[in-house]
Amino acid sequence: MAPQSDAQLAYERLLLQLPTTEAQRLTRAGTPLKASQAFSYITSGYTENLSAIKKDGLFAQHADDAVVLRDLPLHSTCEHHLLPFFGYCHIAYLPAGQVLALSRINRLLKMYSRRLQLQERLSAEIADGLLEMCGAHAVAVVTEARHLCMELRADGSCGATAKCTALRGETSSARALLSLL
Ligand SMILES: [Zn+2]
Repeated sequence: MAPQSDAQLAYERLLLQLPTTEAQRLTRAGTPLKASQAFSYITSGYTENLSAIKKDGLFAQHADDAVVLRDLPLHSTCEHHLLPFFGYCHIAYLPAGQVLALSRINRLLKMYSRRLQLQERLSAEIADGLLEMCGAHAVAVVTEARHLCMELRADGSCGATAKCTALRGETSSARALLSLL
């Protein structure tokens, strides 16, 4: 008999908590493999890095006007409960001589979202990453998300949205950017 994978063993421990007939039915579903493939995908952001995202994505731009991206879809995974949180991310920055391709900003969001996260840290990492890549005068990031770890556990917070902000660079400029989000 082939040795059992860690995913199979973990799943079997989980099934021990269920009624026997239910556990027998679920054993045949191929779930350990599917779950471990899904987990690999939602943590695939660990294989990305800022320099790969930045590569060939910066362009000179001498008018230092604000760049604003609103309503970027956000899907990430709570590091405490391994359950999704999802919503939107809004990003604004004031360039300092160069801009980053808009698609790279979305890739930055995806890289940090596809890791085990706290919404607070996700917001901060996006702001820090953008600042590091393009050296902006100021950056503002706002995330708004619903957390299934709160909602599924029925503590009365269904539909509640958590909002986090991260401001970087010149304080007054960052605050002005925040007002655009
Ligand atoms: Zn959680």
